[in-house]
Amino acid sequence: MINKDVLIIGAGPAGMSAALYLARSKYSFEIVEKNMIGGKLNITTRIDNYPGVPSTDGFTLADTMKKQLESFNIKVKIDEVIDISKEKDGFYKVFTKNEQYLVKAIIVATGTETKKIGISNEDILVGKGISYCAVCDAFFFRGKNVLVFANERKGYLESLYLSQVVGKVYLVSDKDQDDLENNLSKLKSLENVEFISPYKITKFNGEDYLTSVEIENIETKERKTIDVDGCFPLIGEVPPTYFLNKLSLVKNRDRIVVDEKCLSKGDNPGIFAAGDIIDKNLNQVVTACNDGAIAATSTIKYLNSLK
Ligand SMILES: Cc1cc2nc3c(=O)[nH]c(=O)nc-3n(C[C@H](O)[C@H](O)[C@H](O)COP(=O)(O)OP(=O)(O)OC[C@H]3O[C@@H](n4cnc5c(N)ncnc54)[C@H](O)[C@@H]3O)c2cc1C
Repeated sequence: MINKDVLIIGAGPAGMSAALYLARSKYSFEIVEKNMIGGKLNITTRIDNYPGVPSTDGFTLADTMKKQLESFNIKVKIDEVIDISKEKDGFYKVFTKNEQYLVKAIIVATGTETKKIGISNEDILVGKGISYCAVCDAFFFRGKNVLVFANERKGYLESLYLSQVVGKVYLVSDKDQDDLENNLSKLKSLENVEFISPYKITKFNGEDYLTSVEIENIETKERKTIDVDGCFPLIGEVPPTYFLNKLSLVKNRDRIVVDEKCLSKGDNPGIFAAGDIIDKNLNQVVTACNDGAIAATSTIKYLNSLK
């Protein structure tokens, strides 16, 4: 059993920002990451809107943040948190795949995971034509043709945004036309948007870069190949909260509801959350770092109050 004051779960921008603030306090902590340090930065082609770092790619920004942690002697542990239980006297027991921790406070910074189509080639072409964030990446497809796969209002709204930036949008949906009509008739009236339904994506073509997308009519099984420069599967995000089931957290849209101090709502003193995992309006690197800083300073105040 490892005893620490705080455990930070997730080493994306939110978790790393929290670590930087905690490193300057007297409290002991560990930061664990189940996958790659940098989180979603690692699948971000280019970042133009993080102040102080003009036009970089996400991987480089993640590496810069990692080096900044190292300069504070912070080492990220590669491990996955799988369960958390509430113990006596305000402690929490955290189970990872390899360790058990006993801590007084936790900062949950686990982001969200994009829902994937789940077919071969998809993972290989992420960042090479396939993107899951229209607001972030539309710019890179200026004047080009893209295919959007969407079946709910958020995806349709992102298609509307894309239609103002790219050349043509093929909007493929497995829902019927009426669904679009009910949700966003404006989109249907645009000249550079072609609505194709009810189809599903069956194949992504391209080796170094996406060249076309194959789709299949879910009723007639008719197949089409559409030549495009980009594809945006916009079928939502899943927050990874499977390890939080034993805590009575308040959630909205499956995201953790927090107060202005990033303290989770519900009966869990010492459980803070930051970044995309929280219920908020704007999921960006700069807001994740902001949340991480707030969660860490609130955690320090919480630990001070226990003395
Ligand atoms: C394609 C794309 C392009 C984007 N472009 C931009 C942009 O241009 N500008 C911008 O500001 N933002 C952009 N964003 C959004 C930005 O990347 C996110 O808002 C930001 O990364 C959120 O940071 P986070 O730390 O909250 O979460 P994440 O970056 O998602 O990091 C969370 C980390 O927690 C880890 N984790 C999850 N569960 C566990 C567990 N059980 N145990 C241990 N670790 C766990 C994950 O592996 C991950 O590394 C983009 C996003 C995408 C997908």
